[in-house]
Amino acid sequence: MSSRSVEVVIIGGGVAGLKAAQTLLTDPSGKLKSDDILVIEAQDHLGGRIFTDKNSSKLGYNYDLGAAWFHDSLSNIVLQDAVNDNDLDNFDRGKDTYYDDKDPKIFGEDGHVDLVDTKINRVYEELEKFIELYYYNDTDEPDLSLKDITDKFLQKYDSILTPTQKKYCKLLIRTYESWYGISWDVISGKYSMMDHHGRNLLNVKGYSFIIDKLAKQIPSSSILLNSQVKVIDRSNKDVPTKKVMIETTSGLKVYTNYVIVTVPQSILQLSDSSSYGITWKPPLPINIKDALSEIHFGCLGKVIFEFDSIWWDKNEDRFEILASEPDPTKSYSDPITSHPRPFDYPAYMVNFASVHKENLSKGSSLVILTQSPLTEYLESHSNEDAWRYYKPMLEKLVIPGKSITNPINTIKTSWTQNPYIRGSYSALHTHDDPSSLIIQLSGEFDNTGLIGNKNIRFAGEHTISDGAGCVHGAYSSGLREADWILNDIS
Ligand SMILES: Cc1cc2nc3c(=O)[nH]c(=O)nc-3n(C[C@H](O)[C@H](O)[C@H](O)COP(=O)(O)OP(=O)(O)OC[C@H]3O[C@@H](n4cnc5c(N)ncnc54)[C@H](O)[C@@H]3O)c2cc1C
Repeated sequence: MSSRSVEVVIIGGGVAGLKAAQTLLTDPSGKLKSDDILVIEAQDHLGGRIFTDKNSSKLGYNYDLGAAWFHDSLSNIVLQDAVNDNDLDNFDRGKDTYYDDKDPKIFGEDGHVDLVDTKINRVYEELEKFIELYYYNDTDEPDLSLKDITDKFLQKYDSILTPTQKKYCKLLIRTYESWYGISWDVISGKYSMMDHHGRNLLNVKGYSFIIDKLAKQIPSSSILLNSQVKVIDRSNKDVPTKKVMIETTSGLKVYTNYVIVTVPQSILQLSDSSSYGITWKPPLPINIKDALSEIHFGCLGKVIFEFDSIWWDKNEDRFEILASEPDPTKSYSDPITSHPRPFDYPAYMVNFASVHKENLSKGSSLVILTQSPLTEYLESHSNEDAWRYYKPMLEKLVIPGKSITNPINTIKTSWTQNPYIRGSYSALHTHDDPSSLIIQLSGEFDNTGLIGNKNIRFAGEHTISDGAGCVHGAYSSGLREADWILNDIS
């Protein structure tokens, strides 16, 4: 069994961990050298939930299987840094990004849905405002699922809404499933309406350029791949000058003074008896354990179908295919045990014919976002099963004079099957508490408290409120913890 001694260990080589390492190493004070820092990553590559697939396409596209958009584009620090960085392998905001935000074209089981003529769009906006106002003044109002609060709205305004408006409000609100990666009957109504700082900007270059850029500034000797951390021992006495011992599943012991834990929330939520859980010595304090039990992890995924001809409208940025009218006896959040009925879950998709307007003669693709529990089902089943589910839905998009063709290629995500990720990002079920975990993990531990070591830091998308769940949140949290350590050292 080998051992190493460093000043800072960063567990996890996603964007949070890499931003922390890069910040520590490039600090002008030069307090920390490459020998002082070790990033330990369980997988055989860096990036975590950022992964640009550059090999699977038959049409020559790059597909971001994880993050794809710069959200909050007016204030997004990752976008700002990319724009300001002259070294960044020719990132050109004009060429490498695309605002895919033309209103989506909506289809239902009966074909195209015209939201404007029936004034459904205005009523739907009112439903969103109703949900926001419902919790605005009285935060003690019990949380309701997105489904139940929609029912409340429809009951309250029953007499002034047309049957069509009522029907489509229910179907349209399920669009939120592809934001949170969970189904509407468990989405917290209280926290469902988001305040965005600017439009969503599709990263056409492929998000991995951010990872490549950060990794370039971290020497390879400071990165350990294929190494799963199993133990974090804060009571270490082996090496008196180091406060913490980190042990990997292969038996490597690393002694260190600071640790930044950036593993996904889903890993922190595992018990230490799980093969992928972390054993804390002494155990994590109850306040952190409680906070971890008050928040869920969503399962957003993607299914990409490539076609050698374009039989849908190439000028639309996005399509939404609505689910069928909900069956009141069915729980949409329960695990799917047999092949799902098409239209049970809505489909939100990006039209690559509009994103990549060049070379359409070869064909193009549709990138569909999937939500739990459909994601778990599709990721654990075959490409043929995915096509069998979506074909009847995609038939609604066929334009006159064309007919649907089978895909020439199908690419699916596998986030729920990846034992080091286990889903997508933090998601709020009804009654969850969004702030408790952030308070517990982004603060400074009490040096005399149960945890007994303020030098254990946490970063990652689940540890921050500005940009929670997103790349820019994860990046800022890595920066935050690196700055804390640099300050503490001085
Ligand atoms: C399908 C999907 C779509 C998304 N879309 C967007 C989007 O459009 N825009 C956006 O901003 N965000 C999006 N996100 C979210 C975004 O990708 C994440 O918030 C962000 O990448 C998380 O970074 P992180 O560093 O916190 O975690 P991660 O990237 O998960 O990094 C943590 C690392 O820890 C490693 N690890 C786990 N266990 C161990 C262990 N025991 N020992 C060592 N290493 C371990 C993991 O392998 C992983 O590499 C999406 C995510 C998914 C899954």
